[in-house]
This record gives sequence, C-alpha cells and structure tokens, in this order.
Amino acid sequence: MVRVLLCGGGNAIHVLTSYIGALPDCEVCILSLFPGEADNLRNAVPDEGIKCQNDLGNDVYGKPLQISNDPAAVVPRSDVVILALPSFTHELYLNKLKQYLRPGVMIGSMPGQSGFDLVARHVLGGDFVQASTVFALETLPWACRIVEYGKSVQVLGTKKEIGAVIAPPEGQSLEPVLQTLQKLVGRLPELKASTNFLALTLMNPNTVHPTISYGFYRDKDLTKPFDEPPVFYQGVDERTGQMLSKVSDEVMEVQRVLLERYPTGLDLSSMLHIRDVLLRYYSDEIGDKTNVYTMLRTSHAHRGLTHPMVDVETPEGKKYMPNFNYRYFTEGEWWSCVSGQ
Ligand code: NAD
Repeated sequence: MVRVLLCGGGNAIHVLTSYIGALPDCEVCILSLFPGEADNLRNAVPDEGIKCQNDLGNDVYGKPLQISNDPAAVVPRSDVVILALPSFTHELYLNKLKQYLRPGVMIGSMPGQSGFDLVARHVLGGDFVQASTVFALETLPWACRIVEYGKSVQVLGTKKEIGAVIAPPEGQSLEPVLQTLQKLVGRLPELKASTNFLALTLMNPNTVHPTISYGFYRDKDLTKPFDEPPVFYQGVDERTGQMLSKVSDEVMEVQRVLLERYPTGLDLSSMLHIRDVLLRYYSDEIGDKTNVYTMLRTSHAHRGLTHPMVDVETPEGKKYMPNFNYRYFTEGEWWSCVSGQ
C-alpha cells in the first residue's frame, strides 16, 4: 500500500485524487491550508468519489480517505507527499509539513519549476533533504479544470511526455521513484528522468501566462467590462506569439551563457524552447505547427480556456472584469519564497 498525501485543493488535486483514489494499492489523503477549503471539499465529495473525465477516453472515480487542514492528522503516515499548488504556497506548506514528515519520505511538487528544490532545502534543511527523495515535475501532467467543485473535473489535454527531476538519497536509484510517480499520474504523460532542478526552473513554461496576458490587455480599455471571458491560448494574436518566442529565445540564451561559463558538470540539456515544449507536450493535438502563434491558436488541448475574470453586475446584466489576483499573475515568484519577501 502506497500512502499518498496531496497538498492543495484546486484543479490538479481533483485529478490526482480521482486517479490515485482509483488505484487498488494506494491510499490518498488531502491537506489543504487554504481557509475553509478542507471543510468545503469534505462536504462536497460524494460517496463514489471525484469523477475525472479525461481525453484518454475513460472516466475515473477516486475517493480520498481523509481531507484535513491539520497536518498532524494526515502527514505522519505518508509515503509520498505531492504539492500540486501555485508555487507561492510551497514555503507555507513545507513549514507546516516539516515536523510530521517521516525521514526517507518522497516529497515533491507538480509542477516544481519555480525552485522547489531550493525552498525544500531552505525549509526542511539539507540533512533532511539528503536523506529523503525530492522530486519535481517540469509541469502539471494535464491541462485540467474543475467542472463541479469536489465532484468532477475535466482533463482537457494529457501531455504526451514530461520531464521529472528526482533526487533520491545518495547511492540510491531513481528508477523505483520514477515508476511510483508514473503509476500515480497514469499511463500518460510518459515521465522522463530529467537532468537537474535548475534546468527545470529556467525553462518554467509559466512565462506564457504574463506574456499572453500582456499581449491581450496591452491595447484594451480596462475600465470596460467584457461581455464574455475572452479565450486565453486560442485567442493569441501574431505579435503575442512572437513575443512568447522571444521570451523563450532569451531563456535559451541564459542556457548558452551558463554552459559557456561552466563547460563541465552542468547539464542543461532538458531545457527546451517554448516551440519545442508545445510539440513535446501536445504534438498530436496541435493543428498548425508553423510557429508558436499558430500552435496556440490550433491547440485542441487548450480549447475553451479563458482569461481569468470575475463576474460583475452591470445595468446590462452580468459581465466580466479581469481577475489580476489569479495565479497567472502571481506565480513563478520563487525568489519571494526563498527570501521570505
Ligand atoms: P488552482 O488555482 O486550481 O489551485 C489553487 C489552490 O492553491 C487552491 O485550491 C488552494 O488550495 C491553493 N492556494 C491558492 N492560494 C493560496 C493561499 N494564499 N494560501 C494557501 N493555499 C492557496 O491551481 P491548479 O490548476 O490546481 O494548478 C496547480 C499548479 O499547476 C499551479 O502551479 C498551476 O500553474 C500549474 N498548472 C496548472 C495547469 C492546469 O491546467 N490547471 C496546467 C499547467 C500547470
């Protein structure tokens, strides 16, 4: 029996609960530190568990054994701890988990591209980290959204292949960890052992969120509400596609300079340009592979995803204003986790 603790309560936790809860030899518990979320989730989950409709053609139902906001109740039994959360919450969670984690635990983040290894070392301490297995997935395995809170979730697109950085205790193989993680996320995406945490953090695909948001809002009147939430990925214009590509060019330039400075011992080969990231994750679901702009416009895996909005009541009825507090604008700030700023 593998006892898995999921930290969080959003889209990703819904999918993971469903998938892991459905496995006969796994037990899944949820820890949420977001005020009120554990109670809300516990009250919402039906007897049959959370339903996950996915793009692989099968619906999966999985139920958590326990949902709590109290680390003492759910952490000590855990063999595997997964944080599937915006990165600005990692430090908060690790601080609460710290005193209850078993030595030798497998602990990681999906996605873990915002310096998860640094925050883990900072909060849990070098000795604990060295005696445990720390892992980080390059991204979330799916594009997913809750359909009905606590009850059902939809996987819009399952990635085909993603990288996983795994740091087991010295002298131990990472293979069994890779196999366990593969079992937990399902047949796809195929998890490929990736080179190092730095490569993963530098190629953080979350650069797409601020870039697409800027590309969209740059010439809009932000005092006027929208009639409908505008489409996010499939709505990019050509200039935004080019900007995204240029942001990624800069990241690849950082890779080039680092390799020039440290020609031996630094393996950043898993860093990819956004163009190659899209092809790696979603090649079968992209219609026109000419460039980043056409790939996003024609990506089936991103269909229907909209700019984050909040409802507003107007004399003409319900309309929508940008939600600048959404994680698209607040994520990726790994330096604030590490320095406590
Ligand atoms: P989500 O927005 O659904 O989940 C947010 C959760 O984070 C909340 O339910 C809450 O538990 C927690 N949280 C938020 N603010 C908090 C705070 N101030 N204090 C404590 N907890 C707080 O996120 P998600 O869609 O499940 O995504 C999880 C991660 O995966 C994010 O980093 C996201 O960028 C990434 N990701 C998501 C998708 C996707 O399709 N959903 C795709 C790729 C990557």
